[in-house]
Amino acid sequence: MATKNLCAVLRQKEELVLENRPVPEPLPHEVLISIHTVGICGSDVHYWKHGGIGDFIVKEPMILGHESSGIVVKTGNEVKHLKPGDKVCIEPGVPCRRCEFCLDGRYNLCPDIQFCATPPVDGSLCQFYCHDAAFCYKLPDNVSLEEGALMEPLSVAVHACRRSQVTAGKSVLICGAGPIGLANLLTSKALGATRVCVTDISENRLDVAKKLGATYKLNVKDLDSKMAIEKIKSIMGGLPDITIECSGAESSVKLALLVTKSGGVVTCVGLGAPEIKIPIMEASVREVDIKGIFRYAHCYPTAIELVSSGVIDVKPLITHHFNLENMLKAFETSASGAAIKVLIHCSE
Ligand code: NAD
Repeated sequence: MATKNLCAVLRQKEELVLENRPVPEPLPHEVLISIHTVGICGSDVHYWKHGGIGDFIVKEPMILGHESSGIVVKTGNEVKHLKPGDKVCIEPGVPCRRCEFCLDGRYNLCPDIQFCATPPVDGSLCQFYCHDAAFCYKLPDNVSLEEGALMEPLSVAVHACRRSQVTAGKSVLICGAGPIGLANLLTSKALGATRVCVTDISENRLDVAKKLGATYKLNVKDLDSKMAIEKIKSIMGGLPDITIECSGAESSVKLALLVTKSGGVVTCVGLGAPEIKIPIMEASVREVDIKGIFRYAHCYPTAIELVSSGVIDVKPLITHHFNLENMLKAFETSASGAAIKVLIHCSE
């Protein structure tokens, strides 16, 4: 049995170090996992650079990371569906299962959810980690552990596309071609959206969107809303039924409300400034439904099935690999904006 457990601990803002901590023991309902791969999310970088996101402040040292996969090495005595040797991906939020939101099936809204690497809860960027077995999903043989780590951002997209009511034949505008926007592109196409346009202010990211199957791309860097609407209308052959906003930029949220067809849906995935100015009258008089999304609920099995069946290929999102020992380089690469998805490998 391993005795070493290197963990990426954020001691305080800009102080991210590797610490050797004891290998934890699983509780009866938990599994101990030898972590294989962890994807870096923008929120991990934000905690590292700023020491907090909104009301979530890192007050005590916290292990980062929440996009993880690994191999089960030990199971608690109540665990029935997993056994040592199983390849799993980890849904990072464990809700209370008792509140009105959990009982209603919307467990992502549970006020007491324990979510990896959201202070004060430790994340899973470490070598050994214990998690509630009910939120660990066995990966099919044809889904790799690297793909398993990508089930987290893909689940965000599955949730966003479900709430946006993306179905066959819909036209969809996706604002922002980061990992989340690109995952929404892949999921929209998988659900049957026929015309999908992606916007960004970076030509490189738009090129990736095009390679991944975007029907159209538009660089909105030098466009005001009026010009952007005209361009989108012209390239898409009409206004989009649905806009999934994945940048959080104020100008982009504004464009989403203005450009979406009357009676359509704008889904706000991007998390930018807590307060922004938007043309709310557009939503009222044109019945454009504004929807929020927060993480996901009941999406991991669908995300895994989409990848296992070959309907979605998440591998092109992976651009960089680092070992745990080089995790600072991994964080710098992710922060540089040059990467799409940076993966850290934790097994020796
Ligand atoms: P990212 O920063 O990698 O990607 C954002 C992209 O938006 C970048 O490519 C950037 O160039 C582009 N962009 C910036 N301004 C723009 C504009 N005006 N118009 C169009 N594109 C513009 O981030 P990501 O990891 O892809 O995440 C996207 C957003 O989703 C972030 O705000 C993140 O916080 C949020 N997020 C929300 C949830 C949720 O549950 N709601 C979950 C995960 C991520």
